[in-house]
Amino acid sequence: PGRSDLLIVYHRLPYEEVVENGEIKRRRPLSPNGIIPTLMSFFGEGRNGSWVAWSVRDPKRGPFEDYTQVDGERYPNLTVSRVPLSKQDVDVFYRQFSKEAFWPLLHTFWERARFRDDHWQVFLRVNRAFAERVARDAAHGATVWLHDYNLWMTPAVLRELRPDLKIAFFHHTYFPSADVFNVVPWRRQIIASLLQCDYIGFHIPRQVENFVDVVRGTMPMRVLEETSAAPRFLTYGCAVGLDRYATCIEAGHRVVRLGAHPVGLDVKRIDETLQRDDIRQRMELLRAELEGTRVLLSVERLDFTKGTLEKLLAFEKLLDAHPELQGKITLISICVPAAREMTIYRTLQTQIEQVVGRINGRFSRVGWTPVQFFFRAVPFEELLAYYAMTDVMWITPLRDGLNLVAKEFVAVQGLTGGRGVLVLSEFAGAAAELKGAILTNPHDPEDLVQACYLGLNMGRAEARARLRQLFDIVQHYDNRRWADEFLAAVDTPLPNPDADA
Ligand code: UDP
Repeated sequence: PGRSDLLIVYHRLPYEEVVENGEIKRRRPLSPNGIIPTLMSFFGEGRNGSWVAWSVRDPKRGPFEDYTQVDGERYPNLTVSRVPLSKQDVDVFYRQFSKEAFWPLLHTFWERARFRDDHWQVFLRVNRAFAERVARDAAHGATVWLHDYNLWMTPAVLRELRPDLKIAFFHHTYFPSADVFNVVPWRRQIIASLLQCDYIGFHIPRQVENFVDVVRGTMPMRVLEETSAAPRFLTYGCAVGLDRYATCIEAGHRVVRLGAHPVGLDVKRIDETLQRDDIRQRMELLRAELEGTRVLLSVERLDFTKGTLEKLLAFEKLLDAHPELQGKITLISICVPAAREMTIYRTLQTQIEQVVGRINGRFSRVGWTPVQFFFRAVPFEELLAYYAMTDVMWITPLRDGLNLVAKEFVAVQGLTGGRGVLVLSEFAGAAAELKGAILTNPHDPEDLVQACYLGLNMGRAEARARLRQLFDIVQHYDNRRWADEFLAAVDTPLPNPDADA
């Protein structure tokens, strides 16, 4: 293929590769996350570009092709560039190190983080391989858009190999305060690498501020520009959405721009899916099955950051404290297993299953099971039917970069004229935007119970008004606006650092 002007670099492929009878087959990722669909929708309108990701090189799987396509018909202008890694490197880089060291730390669970220097060496090697591939694929002056912490060390190598490139980075996870981040043994190298970018985006202003604070403690820097004044848009006479927040710093002889860009949804695709006959039928079926009970919904990956266990314990308390709710409410909990071969989540899974068993053992009656627990991924389209049937969406992460599920619920309720209530953890990035939700502190069991109770008892008029406000935000700041604003910010010329000196 020719050289690309726009390269999206996310370590995972947009599909899963599995080997069947010695041949590589593709299928939907078994453990969905929000990043892949967000980035794919960006290429949906014929945009040119390439997606750079690792793929396992294994002679048993036949010859390795560096370049391929995702789907020649749907995405004719999108090339996939596969960086060959050994299975062992993938295991260490992705399944162990990223999840055991950086993931807990980024979500402020620093005492869970395991830092191993031999794993860091693999991380460096893999990040270098990504940089080398991008350096080979990128046209002169191309924009390279790197995604997430797994590629923290790629900018350093890439800047050296290709000074002509525009390097942008989007951080999809939470970014903690300096007190937490500085625990990382390699923090200086990581910050020095990120400062080789031209632009770094985060979901919300707090994460930008935390990053700036970390830089301040790592090397001398000065803030050249800071704006946090105007909110993104106005509705019903009051400001909603996220404050516009951008800053620009000079550190180590480089000027780097930073900004807050919460990821949005493909609302149009959700709307189209909701019109499909099979999804309508699914809704009818669910409606009939759930007749006579009010529905609380919980959807998340199995992860200690998501607060599933805390929520289940709160649900048990709720049933104890309000016996009148017994038989009248059902918690549907969809918990997506972690990606294959991730063993670190097994204890949590056992704890969750025990609590579900206890609640159902204590409270079930003929014709009513209080918790319907699904330990599997539900296809996105079907998930939309669940959102439509929900009275209270109960999202309780102890810490989350954003949380797309919260927005998806709002979109579906808004598009179907519902009046469901969103109860959302104040520790989810989305809480900074979705101010019409009932915010809750998942670290406080009493507050979890009360917020849920409030959600169940909210009057129709208030629920509708809140939903309308939430839907406005989700509809306005969709995924297209997110990508366009991000790329426009990347292209904004840097201020002259000495202009006001
Ligand atoms: N999701 C899904 N099926 C499921 C559960 C979740 O397709 O059974 C999708 C969900 O619709 C959302 C994404 O997975 O788009 C999860 O994104 P989120 O930002 O909430 O959390 P993450 O897993 O990225 O931390």
